[in-house]
Amino acid sequence: MPELTYRADSALLSGLNQPLQDLLVRAAALAQGQQATLWLVGGVVRDLLLDQPIEHDLDLMVEGDAVAFARLLAADLEGTVSAAHLAFGTATVILKKVQAGSAVFPLALDLARTRVEQYPQPAALPVVQPAGIDQDLRRRDFSINAMALSVQTVDGHLAPTTLLDPFGGRQDLAAGHMRVLHNASFDDDPTRILRGLRLAARLGFHLEPHTQTLLATALARRRLEATSPDRIRTELCLALAEPQPEEVLRLADAWSVTPHICVPLHWTATLATRCVRARAGETTSLHPLHYAGLLTYDLTAEERNHLAVRYRLPGDAVRLLRELDALQAIRDQLTRNLRNSELDHLLRPFGVVALEVVRVAEPPPIPAVITHYLVQLRPVTQLLDGHALRRLGIPPGPQLGQILRELRAARLDNLVATRADEESWAMQLWQKIRDAE
Ligand code: ATP
Repeated sequence: MPELTYRADSALLSGLNQPLQDLLVRAAALAQGQQATLWLVGGVVRDLLLDQPIEHDLDLMVEGDAVAFARLLAADLEGTVSAAHLAFGTATVILKKVQAGSAVFPLALDLARTRVEQYPQPAALPVVQPAGIDQDLRRRDFSINAMALSVQTVDGHLAPTTLLDPFGGRQDLAAGHMRVLHNASFDDDPTRILRGLRLAARLGFHLEPHTQTLLATALARRRLEATSPDRIRTELCLALAEPQPEEVLRLADAWSVTPHICVPLHWTATLATRCVRARAGETTSLHPLHYAGLLTYDLTAEERNHLAVRYRLPGDAVRLLRELDALQAIRDQLTRNLRNSELDHLLRPFGVVALEVVRVAEPPPIPAVITHYLVQLRPVTQLLDGHALRRLGIPPGPQLGQILRELRAARLDNLVATRADEESWAMQLWQKIRDAE
């Protein structure tokens, strides 16, 4: 669990890297010119207090016209405004290049007008109205996300900041507690349960006792089942993008949430070991699709299909799950002594992610077989292409395609080595095909 930083509240903004501080100085100056007040909110405040690196986009609340401010800011910083919603008072300013030392990185500033939200009925989308920062903080999910830091400038520098912490977020950070702000929080928006899981898994935090009781009540009232599957899917995708998605699933079991999302899914030590193994040796983080495959690996084809249909999973995820069904159906064949061309014939239809998932999840000898296929066989191409075959006098048509396929198989089985070998092999096959006609 990360520990609290020792910086004084007023100096918290000095935890941001210099380019971000410079950027805030300009934003604050512009806001002051507009008589608008600017606040950093949400994850960035939490992570500044925990002294975590600020690697995510910044959430800024504007007490004033956020969309007009976004346009001014984009013009000033040579950025672009995207996703501007006049009705909600929200906009994003995209900066393509923020310089930090020798590194250049893109950054999105999410701007929103401070507001209150009312839920016409549980689990429905809220009705939004402008309000001050104090009220804005009341609509948030957890105390540790319901803090704000004022962003003001004096003489071209960031002024000492003020931390607004109306729900004891700082204390909860120190205790490692997740606390909702009011009793109806999970009823109003059950996706907060999934947000909580993600954050608790990332930070190693626990639900404080009252929040646990509220969670149990919301689950018993089947609030997650009443939530739109699209909103749940968004949260599931975010969970898969966490550094350790298996930890999110372990907590989801511990909080008794998993059966409300997907009944047959549950954490096992085997599944966690597979995720750790998949990460080992990787220099960059694994793609969320890998985790989608690894975490659902022990489900049946029918259960995976149910998951895909219920949450209308995106095309690449559906394809992956289907490929896992098909690969699991042929796994016995992979343990036989196959010729290279036979192995290629079996595995060539599948995407690399599915093959990598199976490689991590299956016992020997399958991992070695898949590695052999991916490294030695998949990249192989024969020397002759369709044009070369046509120059040898083979006419275009299905037979040419067949000869190309068989030529590749011959190369994989080391039956041909040189271009001349391929040419004579192709001509012999062409002769055979003609004789058979
Ligand atoms: P992360 O590190 O995952 O980006 P974050 O807290 O910044 O964490 P965002 O999804 O960017 O996550 O949300 C920004 C802030 O908006 C949150 O900190 C929280 O205050 C508020 N928020 C987001 N979603 C909800 C929600 N469903 N209910 C209440 N508040 C929310």
